Parts: sequence; C-alpha cells; structure tokens
Amino acid sequence: MFIGRGAVIVAVLGLFVIASGIALSYSSRSGAGEDSCQSGRGEQSIMGFWNRLKAGASIARMLLRLPPAHCWFMFGQLRDSKKKWHNGRLRINSFLPPYPSRAFNRWCDHALHRRRVPLSAYMAVTSRCPCRCSHCSYAHRGYDDVSSERLAAAVRQVRELGACMIGFTGGEPLLRPDLAKLIASVSDDTATLLFTTGHRLDVERAKKLADAGLTTAVVSIESTDPDEHDAIRGHRGSFAGVQRAIEACHQAGVFTSFSTIAFADRIESGQLDRIYELATAWGVGEMRVPNPVATGGIAGCSGSMLDQQQMEYLRRIHKKYNDRKRDGGPTMASIAYMESDDLFGCGAAYHHMFVDDSGEVCPCDLTPLSFGNLHERPLAEIWEEMGEYFPRPRCGCLMNEIGKRIPCNAQLPLLPSQSRSLVSAPTDDMPLPRAYQGLLTIPSKGTTCPQGKEGVCQTPAGSDEGPKDTPHLPATYPVTTSDSESLPLH
Ligand code: SF4
Ligand code: SF4
Repeated sequence: MFIGRGAVIVAVLGLFVIASGIALSYSSRSGAGEDSCQSGRGEQSIMGFWNRLKAGASIARMLLRLPPAHCWFMFGQLRDSKKKWHNGRLRINSFLPPYPSRAFNRWCDHALHRRRVPLSAYMAVTSRCPCRCSHCSYAHRGYDDVSSERLAAAVRQVRELGACMIGFTGGEPLLRPDLAKLIASVSDDTATLLFTTGHRLDVERAKKLADAGLTTAVVSIESTDPDEHDAIRGHRGSFAGVQRAIEACHQAGVFTSFSTIAFADRIESGQLDRIYELATAWGVGEMRVPNPVATGGIAGCSGSMLDQQQMEYLRRIHKKYNDRKRDGGPTMASIAYMESDDLFGCGAAYHHMFVDDSGEVCPCDLTPLSFGNLHERPLAEIWEEMGEYFPRPRCGCLMNEIGKRIPCNAQLPLLPSQSRSLVSAPTDDMPLPRAYQGLLTIPSKGTTCPQGKEGVCQTPAGSDEGPKDTPHLPATYPVTTSDSESLPLH
C-alpha cells in the first residue's frame, strides 16, 4: 500500500515537473522577443512565472486523468507544437482556447468526459465579400444578412450546446458593423476567432474587437507577392489590407494567425515556406495550413486535391516548423497533420460544427451538408439527430468520401434529406483516429448505455457533473475509464 501511494506521488510529481518543464522551456525558448510583437514584455514578471507554473500544473493534472498510454501519446503531441505566451496566456495553437481561461477549462471538461460536443463551432455571419477567389469554400451560397438579434440568438444556441471556441467567418465578417457587439455577446467561457481577409481593419476597429474579447484573428493570405495575392483575390489592395490588419491586431493586443491553403503549386514553388518567412518577419503568432478540399468553388475539381506525397509533405512541415530547436517563427498548424488518422482524424459533427449565415447547421465549414436550420428548430435537437450519422470521429476526411457525389453548381448547402442520403455512419469495424484510441470504445450493436459504470456513457444533459451553464449537453460516447468527475482546473 505504502509503495503504491509512493509510486502515485512520484508519478504525480514527475508529471508535474515534466508539464511545468514543457511550459517553462517553451516560454523561455520563445522568450520576450516572440511575445514582444504582440503581448507586451511583462512576461518576465513573477505573475508570468506563476502563470507558467499553473499551466504546467494544469497540463499535468489533465494528463493524469487520461489512461497512461494516451497520456504518453498526448505528451508526445504537446512536444510537437510550438507553444507561445501572449498577453500572459499560453497558446498551443488556435484550435485550443488560451490558458488560463474559462474556455480552456470548459474544453478540458468536455474532453475529459468524452462528450460529443462541438468544441469548436465556426459561424458564417455574412455571405458578402469584396473578394472573388475562385477557390472560395463559401461559393454557391448567398443570402441577405440576418439581423443582429437573430445572429446573437444563433450564437447563444451554439454556446449553450457546449462550444468553447466560436469562429466568426463568412464571406468577410468585417463587413458586419455589429461584429464587435456579436463577439461581446459571447461569454468569456468561449474563445472567439475571426476569419478575415483583413478588409479595412485599422487599429481603431481592432481595439474595439479586442475590447469585445476577440481571442484570435486568422488573416488569410494567398502569396507573398502583392500582385499575385491581389490577382487570386480579385481585389486590388487586398495584400496591403493583410499587412495593415496584422499590424492593427498587434497594436490592439490580438493574437494573429495566417491561413494559407496548401495548393500543389504553392508546395512545389516554395510559396508556403515564403509565407512562413513573411509571418516570421511580421511577428504573426501562428500559420494555419489547410489542404484543399473539393468544396465550394473547387467542388468536383479533383485536380486541385493533393496526392499522398504532398499530404505527407504537409505533415512533415508541421513537425519541421514546430521543432523546438528552431528559434522564432509562428506555430505551424498543418491540417493534414492534425486531421490525420494518426492524430485527431475527422471531427466533423463530433467535435466541430459549422453554421452558415442563414442558420443551416453543417458538420464542418467544408462540408456543405445541412442537417437543419437553427432558426427553425432548436440546435440541440439538430445536433442530436446528427449524432446518428456522426457518433464518433472518423478516419479520413468525410469530403474525400462524398465530395464527388455532390453535384457541381448545386445550391449549397444540400437539403437535410439530400445530406442524410450522402452520409453513412461509421461501422463498428472502422478504426478510430489515434488520439481517440484508448479513450473511446466502439459499442457493439444494441448496447444500451446505463450511467455511472466503467466503460459506459456518462454526464448526460442536466447531470450535476456537467458545467451548470451548458443545459443542452448532448449524450456522450462510451469511454474506457470510470473517470467521471468534473475537472476543477483552478
Ligand atoms: S476572401 Fe474568403 S470569403 Fe472572400 S471570396 Fe475569397 S475565399 Fe471567399
Ligand atoms: S470533413 Fe472532416 S477532415 Fe474533412 S475538412 Fe471537414 S472536419 Fe476536416
């Protein structure tokens, strides 16, 4: 007994030291120089040190709640991401809320209880955009803007469903004059992202967005060559707008990210590397690199898709640019790496959701399949129905499976009846993405899910164990441990 307790204490201390070490070493490696562009130089203070220590403790406590094999796996993943300190908060990447924050606590609580909840929900707030990109994922849609009240009601439903990160996108969300109000309407237990071209974003507006609580501005960029960038956008002056927006966000204290689609020619020509260098020079905090998906403007264009070798290259650059021996530069967030079967796989309608600007609820922003409209039916009901088709994360991108069956030039998103006919639920013999192996179990057919026992569903809607402010939490997935307490991170 004594030895058992001793081993546990040693393990706890060991994990604490390791996690604190991660937090401290990354912060000292990124140093004041990296933070200084955006976050002020107060990181040398005792408070900064204390925050890092708390971050280490939280990471250790979170890891301890996971099965040991999974804990080891996640530890390896943490090492593969370049962490940054921004305004006194730890940023692993923009797919996670900053730490410390109530959004981070909620994220951990959902994750540890293995809830099927949209951890991140992206919401289009307008179809309007000054640009005309041929690859636009929002092509073939077009609505009149809905009122501020209707949009705020939609945001409220999304948050109540459990979203800890809401990304406002479009179209160009900055075209909505009520954007700051909308961001402010999101409680501080939910991080907010803005996906933008940077259109006319000046310091004054960036400060308003920052005051409203904006967590991250993701500014898209097509090329380091201003003329080429503007030509792809079909909008003269767009590149200058990107630079102005990044500078404005830094002055306003908003964490910044670049987003660039990794088309094959950008890989072959070294454009991605040049954009990374530009991001470094401009002090951008992160670079998101989504791979092309045959949707919107490139629906049916199989020629735009990457081959295995190119996808492998994208997985490699994630590790290459996040290498801890490499000083400076933004965190690399390559979607080919993060959504690979070796990591999180496809979280569409499991841990991710998209709502278009007319309220149609889709599995992800690149999956133009509606399962209902949240202005017509409660979102919680739509989400629960989607669970029949998306009961767990999948291996492989759903759009790779069904993209070819979406008619070219169809009005998007497809109607719920069409959407249901395209998607089939993963079968029990399909493997889980690696990050979920050991955490989720695949139920045998007809299995019921009584509560409160090892290996079964837990923390259903309305349970005392869940956060009090998320009344519509949907059913959770069977888990492999009996860990069912809430996680008090502070
Ligand atoms: S800037 Fe974005 S929203 Fe606008 S057309 Fe281009 S891809 Fe579409
Ligand atoms: S379908 Fe899945 S893998 Fe494909 S883009 Fe959407 S979330 Fe990512």
